[in-house]
Amino acid sequence: MSNESKSNSLSAFESLESNVRFYSRSFPVVFAKAAGAILHDENGCEFIDFLSGSGVLNYGHNDPYFLDEATQYLRSNGMIHGLDMATPAKRNFMECFDAIILRPRGLKYKFQFPGPTGANAVEAALKLARNATGRHGVISFTNGFHGMSLGALAVTGNRYYRDAAGIPPAGVAFMPYDGYWGPDDDTSEYLDKVLADASSGVDLPAAIIMETVQAEGGINPARKEWLQSIERICRNHGILLIVDDIQAGCGRTGNFFSFDFAGLSPDIVLLSKSLSGSGLPLSLLLLKSELDVWRPGEHSGTFRGNNLAFVTGAAALRKYWTNDRLSARVTETGRIISERLHQVSQSNRANRLSVRGRGMMLGLDCGTGELAERIVRKAFEEGLVVERCGAEDQVIKVLPPLTIDEQTLQRGLDILHKSVQARA
Ligand SMILES: *Cc1c(COP(=O)(O)O)cnc(C)c1O
Repeated sequence: MSNESKSNSLSAFESLESNVRFYSRSFPVVFAKAAGAILHDENGCEFIDFLSGSGVLNYGHNDPYFLDEATQYLRSNGMIHGLDMATPAKRNFMECFDAIILRPRGLKYKFQFPGPTGANAVEAALKLARNATGRHGVISFTNGFHGMSLGALAVTGNRYYRDAAGIPPAGVAFMPYDGYWGPDDDTSEYLDKVLADASSGVDLPAAIIMETVQAEGGINPARKEWLQSIERICRNHGILLIVDDIQAGCGRTGNFFSFDFAGLSPDIVLLSKSLSGSGLPLSLLLLKSELDVWRPGEHSGTFRGNNLAFVTGAAALRKYWTNDRLSARVTETGRIISERLHQVSQSNRANRLSVRGRGMMLGLDCGTGELAERIVRKAFEEGLVVERCGAEDQVIKVLPPLTIDEQTLQRGLDILHKSVQARA
């Protein structure tokens, strides 16, 4: 395709859509169709998807079973919108989630469906934690990412986003995440100490909000023992533990919840992104019943729960979580990707590339944002969609659908490898 027709096809976006648009700049084509791990632009060019809608499409694009369920529901005149009224779709989703995910883990939670985005869930969780404890402060971690609305931004570390708030994002103390001072330091000891010290200047917070693998913050996996320490500290000090599993959950790290491997029992769990399975917006707070201090309608809204998303979300639970096959596959695929990324880094010693992550949440740290950008640009020219993360956008975030077939995966990894060789 000529450069001219490429820019023509994007000119409407340049003239009509706000400057705020982002991904259409990184991937300057018009994406028209998608199936599994493959995207097609409107000229029919094919791309391999190592972005997965930033973790929304863990089960790939347009899973035929989810589409069938959704189509059948639409054809049956099933409720599409019903505020937060009771519907069979919602009942079935909650019952499936309880039976397939919660009960086998010995977990018991109430469900709250806030607005459809991840940030909506974060806002609801912070508000609930404040109301339930009567305290207003929150602790978050360095490099944490929780969304763009004011409350979510206040617990997000990244200065580029914080600077856009327009008012000072307040009420939050940031503590060092696991590994912040290198692998030998246990930063949870610092947290424990400042909370115990009546003169540390850190007030007792309502809640601690954390990711178990920081995604946008640069693919930083916390160690099991560190996560367990944070939970213990919360219990000892009467602080609520909120796990933001919006990106790391729904199987990305191998188990349904990213904290399963550490056996945590958070007070509040946040899910969104891949929760509907199909890419439809849906977000959920799981909260311990003793925290359910909401009065009816106190945290209200128009789009709370999304019936079509409930239908595909329940289908995803039935298809992938009633046995261990997907979990095993994620562990195996994650191992393949990780080995390959280690090969890539070893064949480019001059640039000191490094690999980290857990399950299929993996990153290639390029040291500088500039190098990572050159590599992902080249990869896109070669037909691979992959994005960057981290404080300086220095980490290439490798996030293919969990269901990607081995051949497509290898093709994608070949492109990434060649792009590193060409640009590093
Ligand atoms: C994406 C994300 C959010 C925010 O979700 P939105 O739908 O973009 O509002 C919050 N927390 C984490 C960990 C995320 O990855």
